[in-house]
Amino acid sequence: MPAMGDADLGALFEEVARYAACFIEGLPDRPVRSSASLDEMRTAFEAPLPEVGREPQTIIQELTMAAEPGLLATPGGRFFGFVIGGAMPVTVAADWLAATWDQNAGLYVASPAASVVEDVAGRWLIELLGLPQESSFGFVTGGQIANFTGLAAARHHVLEQEVWNVQEKGLQGAPVVRVLANETRHDTIDRSLRYLGLGTDSIQPLVADDEGRMSLVALRDALANGQGPTIVCAQAGNVNSGAFDRFDDVCALAHKYNAWVHVDGAFGLWAAVSATRRYLVAGVEGADSWATDAHKWLNVPYDSGIAFCAHPESHHAAMSVHASYLIHAEGTERDQMDWNPEFSRRARGFAVYAAIRHLGREGISHMIDRCCDHARRFAEVLRAAEGVEVLNDVLLNQVLVRFLAEDGDHDAKTRAVVSGVQTDGTCWMSGTAWRDMAAMRISVSNWSTTEEDVERSIEAILRVASGL
Ligand SMILES: *Cc1c(COP(=O)(O)O)cnc(C)c1O
Repeated sequence: MPAMGDADLGALFEEVARYAACFIEGLPDRPVRSSASLDEMRTAFEAPLPEVGREPQTIIQELTMAAEPGLLATPGGRFFGFVIGGAMPVTVAADWLAATWDQNAGLYVASPAASVVEDVAGRWLIELLGLPQESSFGFVTGGQIANFTGLAAARHHVLEQEVWNVQEKGLQGAPVVRVLANETRHDTIDRSLRYLGLGTDSIQPLVADDEGRMSLVALRDALANGQGPTIVCAQAGNVNSGAFDRFDDVCALAHKYNAWVHVDGAFGLWAAVSATRRYLVAGVEGADSWATDAHKWLNVPYDSGIAFCAHPESHHAAMSVHASYLIHAEGTERDQMDWNPEFSRRARGFAVYAAIRHLGREGISHMIDRCCDHARRFAEVLRAAEGVEVLNDVLLNQVLVRFLAEDGDHDAKTRAVVSGVQTDGTCWMSGTAWRDMAAMRISVSNWSTTEEDVERSIEAILRVASGL
């Protein structure tokens, strides 16, 4: 491999930094969609396995050129697909430092800085989100693994109450665990239960109302009519409608029956930071575990999620690890691998720390409110337009829109508008099915979205819809 001198190193990094600034500054002006076809992308990247190496600068230039046409402007202000969120510049820079320092954030001894930054950022998050002060936490890759981690702690806890040590005995011969879950839960709950060996058949779905809030009557009936170790899965922010379960009642009911409450709050938990939206999560602090994302509404780069647990001993029992060749903390130092499913891993805490430090509680609260206000504006204008319906109560950042067709095939029309808007490139949103209806799903979760972005996007949506 060609050697690299100091001068080359500076040039390499400077070039990437210059390119990064251009890319981010250019986001408002590029089409939001990818402009390359699958074939074009394959042609851009495919090559025989390289037998010999080449200069770093060449590689980076080639990589940039090849990738550019196949990139979506997901970090930009007019991307409203899925629930994505952007990456604030300070968090991108902090993430570069994490890559530069290349710390192994598994053990305190491998990187005191990475360990302590997580300790501090984790405490800040607990305070921001209004969770119990003594909660434990783990920095994970995202909502999926945060749900897995919370449910692993739950599995340990509810089986320990039956005098069954699942860490040693596994599930063979164990008491049957039931999972009572909102029927509109996110699919990562089901997938976590698969990973945990509980299987999706362990789920007893609880009917939800038109917004996606679980029925308390159904929950009470299920709790009263079943038995054995029980986990209740509630959600803060339905992935389509943004709806919240009623945590006060859910927790009170579940705890009466000694059940564990896990809350999937991938994006919705952030409502807790906003004075005007905090009412949506009332009582959420009464749950036993929580999952959230930093790469969604906190706007840090991928991959970044956090699991919290009100029972640190159960969290620790489910995740901790001991190996003879490692040097484990003996005092109050944090060995991160004891709180998340990974062993070696990226120092995710730096970017989260930078985000919170940069915005402060006030800035995060403003960001949440801004996104929710933008969502409300989308709903207001679209609802007033001819042949357009808004299907959900827009209390958070999610808007579900349906387009009515003259021939009565509203599903087909709605899908056509979604696809037409994606092709148009002014903005990007995805489709979904909501209560057996096709819908356009608008999620406003980006720190940089402006009022102008919203107006331009509404104009594009209505233009595409009326042109069909
Ligand atoms: C996004 C999301 C998840 C999954 O989170 P990832 O960060 O993609 O792993 C889980 N639940 C809800 C409600 C979500 O919105």
